[in-house]
Amino acid sequence: MSDPTANRVRNYVNGTWCESTATDFVEAVNPATAEVIGRTPLSPAAEVDAAVRAAEAAFPAWRRVPVADRIQCLFRLRILLQEHLEELARAITVECGKTIGESRAEMQRAMENVEVAGGAPILMQGEFSEDIASGIDEFVIRQPLGVCAGICPFNFPGMIPFWFMPYALACGNTYVVKPSEKVPLTMQKVFALIDQAGFPKGVVNLVNGAQETVDTLLDHPAVRAISFVGSTAVAKHVYARATAGGKRAQCQGGAKNPIIVLPDADPDMTTRITADSGFGCAGQRCLAASLVVTVGDARHWFTDAIVEAAARRVVGNGLDERVQMGPVISAHSKARIEQLVQKGIDQGAKPLVDGRGAAVPGCEQGFFVRPTVLHNLHPDHEITGTELFGPVLGLVEVDTIEEAIAFANRGRYGNMACLFTSSGASARKFRSEVEAGNIGINIGVAAPMAFFPFSGAKESFFGDLHGQGRHAIEFFTQTKVVVERWPKEWSRRF
Ligand code: NAD
Repeated sequence: MSDPTANRVRNYVNGTWCESTATDFVEAVNPATAEVIGRTPLSPAAEVDAAVRAAEAAFPAWRRVPVADRIQCLFRLRILLQEHLEELARAITVECGKTIGESRAEMQRAMENVEVAGGAPILMQGEFSEDIASGIDEFVIRQPLGVCAGICPFNFPGMIPFWFMPYALACGNTYVVKPSEKVPLTMQKVFALIDQAGFPKGVVNLVNGAQETVDTLLDHPAVRAISFVGSTAVAKHVYARATAGGKRAQCQGGAKNPIIVLPDADPDMTTRITADSGFGCAGQRCLAASLVVTVGDARHWFTDAIVEAAARRVVGNGLDERVQMGPVISAHSKARIEQLVQKGIDQGAKPLVDGRGAAVPGCEQGFFVRPTVLHNLHPDHEITGTELFGPVLGLVEVDTIEEAIAFANRGRYGNMACLFTSSGASARKFRSEVEAGNIGINIGVAAPMAFFPFSGAKESFFGDLHGQGRHAIEFFTQTKVVVERWPKEWSRRF
């Protein structure tokens, strides 16, 4: 019998690694092999409280550390992340399934956020107006909030905590990270580096768990701000509960991203990029293309080309450098995707490439769905409006760009929308009229760089200020406005 204490992940509280006292665990599983690689404790409320209290105790001193000194810890962390990039990328692939190249790119994105947060000395500067009335000045100071927490999904275990944490810390807040219980191992490695980066005890903390752990964070009176990324149902719950308790909240939800292809698009580029968007990370990106709307004649060249690209994609264990697509996260996810595809077919969609029941030699136990292309999707099919989070592209054909934009805007989500065209006028119309937070023009994964906000609209985002860049600095600071008078008759004459 296997040792139940083996591979237990630990919490990191007040600068110390701690075994959780939890009696319930979730197994972390390598999705390419179905091997159990870790056990995530469902940390009880007392342990969440200990992490928040440690962050609360560390806050008064940390906020007084000059910003130029605070960011030195981030610079050291940046170097450590670079030195351990390969090890971190491997950890991501092993627990999440994406290809090793995708994992390296993920950590690159994480490091870019550390770099941008290193600009906090300028980014968090206030504003000053001299003589708003005679002898009176007025200015804005940005100050940290206190304890902030990040609740993360499974699909980017290395990157998503970095959309928030470096900015929060640079601004003088203290922090608690709650990774997805499905992929706890990458953060174990990241926190081993955080431990070496010189942050004072209690400034950065890690608590593992699932729903109850999250709810304890949401209800904790000392937590001032919550950043959440995950499914829309949970995003709504987190936003409602956090804001009901008076906390700031930014909650990123699910997606069903359309790509529109106009007849004047470049066929080779459009097909290659759309295939990467739909099948990259096994379709488990929040910026993965899920629907492709071809306009007019584009249907003729696009359909054949995407079918060929889907059938050609090399699927397997992401640790193999030759592999272009890994498994989906779990047996449950594979079954759910396959059932939804069947439902789509039952409702009239036609499978041009059917990736269900995939067998990958050497990974017979893995949770693989091969690239799938469904044709003839109707706006009323369940599959057309439901987030699949798998490597499935649904094709829709319309006659005009107006119809295509109307189709894109029908959905409940608004995470990303992309257009392929060689017409500037069409691009301009599209970016103005389409209802989504992240827009790509001849781009298939419109992921904002760290110095831009990671946007989102409709049911893909709840809140106002987003993660990354200046939005993150605003989210993690409160403004104090000072109006000041110093009558000159009070001054000693020199
Ligand atoms: P999820 O909603 O199941 O879990 C996200 C986090 O919420 C986890 O830490 C989990 O422990 C916690 N959680 C789950 N159920 C909860 C509950 N009932 N109450 C409180 N907390 C709960 O999401 P997931 O499956 O890990 O991630 C995939 C989803 O994330 C997809 O919908 C995807 O589109 C979305 N996502 C969105 C973005 C974005 O930028 N909009 C980015 C990445 C992923």
